[in-house]
Amino acid sequence: MATTPEFDLFVIGGGSGGVRAARMAAQRGARVALAEAAALGGTCVNVGCIPKKLYAYASHYAADFEDAAGFGWDVGEPRLDWARLKANRAKEIARLNGVYGQLLTSAGVQVLRGWAELLDGHTVRIRTTTGVQTHTAKNILIATGGTPSHPPIPGSELGVTSDSMFDLEPFPKRLVVVGGGYIACEFASIFRGLGAKVSLLYRGEQILRGFDDEVRHFIAGELVKRGIDLRLGTEVESLEREGGTVRATLEDGSTLDANTVLFATGRVPNVNGLGLEAAGVKQGRLGAVEVDAHHRTSLHSVHAVGDVTARLQLTPVALAEAMAVVDRLFGEGHRRMDYELVPTAVFTQPSIGTVGLTEAQAREKFARVHVFRSEFKALRHTLSGSGERCLMKLVVDAASDRVVGLHMVGPEAGEIVQGFAVAMKAGATKAVFDATIGIHPTVAEEFVTMR
Ligand code: FAD
Ligand code: NDP
Repeated sequence: MATTPEFDLFVIGGGSGGVRAARMAAQRGARVALAEAAALGGTCVNVGCIPKKLYAYASHYAADFEDAAGFGWDVGEPRLDWARLKANRAKEIARLNGVYGQLLTSAGVQVLRGWAELLDGHTVRIRTTTGVQTHTAKNILIATGGTPSHPPIPGSELGVTSDSMFDLEPFPKRLVVVGGGYIACEFASIFRGLGAKVSLLYRGEQILRGFDDEVRHFIAGELVKRGIDLRLGTEVESLEREGGTVRATLEDGSTLDANTVLFATGRVPNVNGLGLEAAGVKQGRLGAVEVDAHHRTSLHSVHAVGDVTARLQLTPVALAEAMAVVDRLFGEGHRRMDYELVPTAVFTQPSIGTVGLTEAQAREKFARVHVFRSEFKALRHTLSGSGERCLMKLVVDAASDRVVGLHMVGPEAGEIVQGFAVAMKAGATKAVFDATIGIHPTVAEEFVTMR
């Protein structure tokens, strides 16, 4: 560049990846600006992980009230105050928006509110409420996330996406969910718990493609036990308004009426109006920004992290990618992001926790595989009367004895699997699992007692 750029780093997008990168770079003495067009915190804070998990907690009370009777409690007829739940969630999210703003400004990041567009490898144009500004930076980070997508069927505008689910008015007594991934399963579970009649329509043979097959079948059975009307091999052909409801017509000609139809059919990278093509940034499928192992785009002064690169769409992955970029640009390290053994959870009821290879993937990769599984009723449900069951499974490479896959369906699966992910990252073998003393009585101890 001919003149000294204003900033060392200009971040576009104030979500999980963008905020982390901006804050950490500024803490290391870099001159940093961050542009955000909507609320700080991005998807995770505003319409993703956080409000979703708060609603998952809310929905769990339904089962807890039922379970309580077996433990001697009479709780009367529980009633959900949907308006109070929404208001309390909104208050907490507003608090978090403030915390994010505070974190950025106290680190010295200049926060610019408006829509940013890339002009070239060192220049960004931002449209704010007061006008258009142009800024220069030595490095630019694209962290613009993703946005929900839905199939272009007739009447699709009558359906909603996960973005709208948190503030629905009134509460959807009858909900149809289209899709079979994370969001479809989580929202079906949440709204079922909150009291809706839920139909979950998935086009394939089994929900949660990509997860261990046994886990997929097991959770499908548990969702049905909870009263979710799960229909596999089912596609929606069209939506139309029918009085006060939305009527979904299915492939076989049958219809389903609902107050709300949720399309949970995947997300696409947020790249419209970003100026990528004109600036010369290479894009792949669905417009995803293409990056190399150092998160550099085809313009090497421009990096990209998180959902806009359409790889693993998880907040901790966006955070880790952001740290890798900051380390490389403003630190000593040249650490590469490691995508092996990324643990993940699906916050259904019961929940799923998983890390490493599925049994099928392990059988493809290794000559001999040992599988250890345990299916049981948790101690809590011996008195609660609930029919919920747990599934726990270890997949072991026979040659090295390393545990290469760990999967569970059960209470607090995410909390349990997080710890085991550390052991697996450290290369734990089945012998190490066997040598570990369990904590009794817990569900988690099953992972160290399977023989
Ligand atoms: P985002 O957090 O989406 O941030 C992008 C930001 O960029 C947004 O604020 C947007 O307004 C802004 N922006 C976009 N374009 C521009 C522009 N041109 N100018 C200025 N600003 C712009 N992940 C988990 O790990 N656990 C979960 O439990 C979980 N639950 C989820 C539940 C739901 C319903 C959804 C939708 C997602 C969930 N995720 C979860 C995924 C997680 O939210 C994302 O992977 C994560 O937020 C991605 O972070 P990001 O920084 O890439 O983008
Ligand atoms: P997913 O990619 O997980 O699932 C999309 C689902 O929609 C799949 O079942 C897919 O079917 C189906 N689908 C896609 N296109 C169509 C179509 N045209 N008609 C009918 N069905 C269709 O996306 P989500 O939207 O659920 O979530 C996006 C991402 O956000 C997740 O992948 C995850 O990374 C992240 N997330 C993480 C969460 C967590 O960590 N707990 C929670 C929520 C989201 P098929 O399998 O046949 O392709």
